Formats: sequence, C-alpha cells, structure tokens
Amino acid sequence: NLSDKLDKALHILKGHGQITEVNVAETLKEVRRALVDADVNYKIAKEFTATVKEKALGQNVLKSLKPGQLMVKLVKDELTELMGGEVAEVDLSGKPSVILMSGLQGSGKTTFSGKLANFLKTKKTKKPLLVACDVYRPAAIDQLHVVGDQINVEVFSDKGNNDPVAIATAGIAHAKANGHNVVIIDTAGRLAVDEVMMTEIANIHEAITPNETLFVVDSMTGQDAVNTAKAFNDVLNFDGVILTKLDGDTRGGAAISIKSVVNKPIKFIGTGEKMEAIDVFYPSRMADRILGMGDVVSLVERAQEQFDEEEARKLQKKIAKNQFGFDDFLKQIQQIKKMGNMKDLIGMIPGAGKMMKNMDIDDDAFKHIEAIIHSMTLEERTKPQIINSSRKKRIGAGSGTSVQQVNQLLKQFDQMSKMMKMMQGGGGKRMMQMMGK
Ligand code: GDP
Ligand code: MG
Repeated sequence: NLSDKLDKALHILKGHGQITEVNVAETLKEVRRALVDADVNYKIAKEFTATVKEKALGQNVLKSLKPGQLMVKLVKDELTELMGGEVAEVDLSGKPSVILMSGLQGSGKTTFSGKLANFLKTKKTKKPLLVACDVYRPAAIDQLHVVGDQINVEVFSDKGNNDPVAIATAGIAHAKANGHNVVIIDTAGRLAVDEVMMTEIANIHEAITPNETLFVVDSMTGQDAVNTAKAFNDVLNFDGVILTKLDGDTRGGAAISIKSVVNKPIKFIGTGEKMEAIDVFYPSRMADRILGMGDVVSLVERAQEQFDEEEARKLQKKIAKNQFGFDDFLKQIQQIKKMGNMKDLIGMIPGAGKMMKNMDIDDDAFKHIEAIIHSMTLEERTKPQIINSSRKKRIGAGSGTSVQQVNQLLKQFDQMSKMMKMMQGGGGKRMMQMMGK
C-alpha cells in the first residue's frame, strides 16, 4: 500500500540516517532492478550502476551530510545524462522544413504525424502540411485525412499513385506553392524489418533530403525496439527518436536502451491516442519515471523544510510524556497543509499517483478534523479520555459534523498516539509515514 511504498523509498533514500558502504551497494541493486524492470537491457543496467558506484565512492558520498539524497542525485543525474541530458529540438529552419517519419507498422507514425502537426501549429505557430506516402493500404491515406480533419491541418495525398517518392516530392512542391513552412511525411511501415521497407524509406530519404528524419517506436516492445532502432539507423542515420505509447504502465526503459545503442536523441513521447497526447522528451523527467521515484527527493526536501526542528523536539518530549493532545495534532495538520496541496504531495509519492487518480482528495481533507478540534474545550483537547457521549453530541453539533465523525476522529487519534509512542524519537518527520495509514 501507499505508506509501505513511501516507507521503502525513504528507507532506501535515507538508510538508517547514515549510508554505509553496504547501503550504497543495496541502493544500487535496487536501482538496477528498477532499470531491468523498466526494460533496460541488463548489461546496460549493470554498466550504469558500476559507473554510479565509482562516482559515489569518488565523491565521498559516505561522508557527506545527506548521503541518501546525494546518492539519489547521482543516480538521477547519471541516468539523465545517459538519455541525452538536454531537451533536443526539431529542426524547423528549412523553407519549408521537411520531416520524414520512419518506423514499423503500428508504431504510431500516422498518429504521431498528426500530433506533431498539431503541436507545431499551436505551440510554434507554424503552418504544417501532412503528406500521405503509405501507398499500400487505401485505409492508411484515409486515416491521415481523418487525423488532418481533427486538427484542422491540410493533408496532401494522391490515391491512384503508388510511388511514394513521387508523392513526397509533389507534396513538398505543394507546400512551397501554398505557404506551408513545415511538411510532415507519413510513410508505410511493415510488421518487421525487411528489405522492401528499408529500400523504400531509403529512396524517399535520398530524394527529399529531409531536415529531420524521425524514427517512431512503440515503447511497449521493449528489447525489440532496440534492434529495430539499430536497423533503421544503419540505413537512414536518423536524427531523432519518438517513443510512443508511454501511457499506462510502460516505464520507458526503452529510452535508455535505444539511446545507448544508436546514440540519437529522443525528441518527443506519445502518451495516448488523442492528438493532444504528445510531450517534449525531458531526460530528467524520464529518469524519475524509470526509477519509479516520483519526486521523492523534493518531497523529502519539502518535508524537512516545513517541519521545524525545534517544534519537532518539543513534540517528541510531549509524546514521551504522554502529553500529546489535540492541540498538537492541530499544529501537525497545519504543518502538513503548509507543505502544499494534498494532491501535489500525493503525486510525488512513488506509485501513488496512479493509485490515487480515481480517489477524491480535496484540499479540504482536514476541514472536518479541524472543525471538530475547534469545537473541543481546552481540557478536552489535552485530555481526550474525558470526552463522553454528551460531550460528543455537543462537539458534533458545534462543528457541523456527526457523533460518528467525532467518534472516528477520537479513534484515529487514539491509534495515532499509540503509534507515536511506539516510534518515539522520530519527531515530526515520522508524521509523513503515518499519513497513508
Ligand atoms: P502506424 O502504422 O505507424 O502509422 O501507426 P498508427 O499511427 O496507425 O498507430 C497504431 C495504433 O497505435 C493506433 O491504434 C493508435 O491509436 C495507437 N497509438 C499511437 N500512438 C499512441 C500512443 O502514444 N498511445 C497509445 N495508447 N496508443 C497510440
Ligand atoms: Mg500509418
């Protein structure tokens, strides 16, 4: 469940307050497993962790102030670097700029052609033209027209013509004559790499000398994606990779493997069937995703900032003396609220984002709790055991809640106090771990 995941992540991050050499090895083993789980080639994953380990030892991570965080940063930076580091742009300098799509059948070329046209039109105020060069299936041409209609972009096609080179050339001429400054050429793919397909795409490539040749690949195909990328790159020496179908559970390890093998930047990702489901590829965000860490690092940092050390110490004493009361609880809630929007916070917890998507967490999650506490007398807040049924009724009425809700809070508070006593010494930070329970 949620808190288990958080516990685990924090555990790996922070070790037991101090990272030992054993912990470094353990952390890296965990990272390697995450990489392999995310479809990264085992050999690449192993090389990667070896590099990180070397750097960690070189930078004296073990002796640093916050070894866990430094370790995570090292892993993340290295992974980001492995995927190209910076965002890679598409060349739009041509007049017009010609962009050629390549890739297997079903990889998402036609869909991505539409997404890119829509992206360039809205984000870069370009006037794109889509050109239909998949001449084998009449349905393929229709599909591009449907896409073009959806996004209001003109589609150039020539249904009787079965020469893709001629259509591509005519498409570019049409673009020049009609003021289009970007031409996106959609081509035919096949189910597997074969010579006919490669010869055809090589011929188109040679005839039109595109500004950008993009290789579109289905990220769900895992290791196969790497072999396909290599085959296309050998023939086309393409300029960039488009990773499609990164919605759902796909973790995107293909990004690392492909980059390692063909050494070409990933430029965009596709995250759904809709025309809006396109994103610029950010190596650092993909590093987060692959590590499955959500934004744990910034979550920890924010938690540390907000939980005042002094307050935490006072609280610890109170817990030890069994004096933790509703007033203290109220303070805790206010501190948690200071950390920001509940949804944002939960989104930063690894694995939780998806789980919580269908849950209704509003920012007023604590509203009832606060109202109930405010309706208590000072004595009730410090000695909750005196709250009998007539007091419950009064508190419920005063806070606009029900006796049941008051009961529920009392029960939760009781459990929480017990738990706090149990893990005495953790102070405010431990609150984080309990939030999910
Ligand atoms: P092509 O044969 O390379 O032109 O591939 P298509 O563009 O026709 O896409 C093949 C299938 O994949 C279609 O059903 C698309 O809707 C779907 N598809 C394309 N990109 C994505 C994506 O990013 N996410 C998801 N979930 N589906 C996609
Ligand atoms: Mg197609």
